[in-house]
Amino acid sequence: MEEWLFLLLPVAAASGWFAARRHYARKYLIEHTHSLRKAYCRGLNYLLSEKTDKAIEAFVDLLTNDFETVETHIALGNLFRRRGEIEKAIEIHENLISRDDLNLQQQESAQFELGSDYLRAGLFDRAESIFQNLVDHENSRVGALQQLLDIYQHEQEWAKAMVCTRKLQNLGKPPKRGETAAHFLCELAEATLCNDDDMTARHWLEEALRDDPHCARASLLMAKLEMREGRFEEALQSLKRVESQNADLIQEIIEPLRICHDRLENPPGELIGYLGYLYETYGIESAALALAERIRSEQGSSKAIEHMLRVLENQPTPKSLNTLTGFLLEEGADTQREALIRLDRALDRMYSNAPRYTCAHCGFSGSELHWRCPSCRHWESTKPS
Ligand SMILES: [Zn+2]
Repeated sequence: MEEWLFLLLPVAAASGWFAARRHYARKYLIEHTHSLRKAYCRGLNYLLSEKTDKAIEAFVDLLTNDFETVETHIALGNLFRRRGEIEKAIEIHENLISRDDLNLQQQESAQFELGSDYLRAGLFDRAESIFQNLVDHENSRVGALQQLLDIYQHEQEWAKAMVCTRKLQNLGKPPKRGETAAHFLCELAEATLCNDDDMTARHWLEEALRDDPHCARASLLMAKLEMREGRFEEALQSLKRVESQNADLIQEIIEPLRICHDRLENPPGELIGYLGYLYETYGIESAALALAERIRSEQGSSKAIEHMLRVLENQPTPKSLNTLTGFLLEEGADTQREALIRLDRALDRMYSNAPRYTCAHCGFSGSELHWRCPSCRHWESTKPS
């Protein structure tokens, strides 16, 4: 919305222009200014009520009369672009650039908008060359780098995207969508991994970790590379690094962790210990399930069943239930009955604590049915859950 406000600038400019021509008949001046203001107000009103068609009509009308300011042209072009009429936007902005009465800043603004038109039209090469030019100009530098960053990501030009990200960071403007140099380095590494160029991939990954020591993705990729090269001990170290880098991604290391341990023929207790630690510390279900499988193969099914019952008593989920029933199917009637009694109690506890009614509007939940939600005050939004 704010950018429409600068449509007001021409009104201000108009005042200056008219002031310079005081020798004109005062009456004419007053009338003319009045009619321009009226025309602008009409255009603005259309804009504010989102009647862009009529707004464009009103502004085009103004332009073709006698009031050709650069800002109005730029704004009009932007309006066309926003409506998806890219050709018209391009035409207006291109015309503007070919004019020779523009000051440097106006030239830059017009270039920037034309670049944005090209980008919107999918003409990435043209957009790229405009924004590359604008990077050299201080006023447009940040905007141009942001646009270039979008272009390079779209084109999967990761090395160039990385350079933009670093420049933006140096200017104190972190990229808008969480872009990091480390992510782009990982993209480069993935591409080289696909081409079996392990040495280059390792180089990118090491650089990613230097750039961002918390880049869990680089560790996961490094582990993949090391496993491929049969270096399971190193892979294990890379996988274990993920915990301190981003605990939310621990689930991703469980399966490769198991493979590494198997290939290294490590003492059985080692993996059981580490999985147990991950489950106890972070409550990660996949760690609990991998642990159950490992306990079953190393220590027998009764220990595995006991472990799964504790997991379920802690937090029953369909997946852990499924694992337990799988184990129980292979057991005798006594073990099954004993386990079922514990399971039944755990599920009872879960359902007695669970809220019975939830508001579909705000998510408020409780054990009573409210015809009007006590939290968001909506009527009849609370439903049995
Ligand atoms: Zn509510």
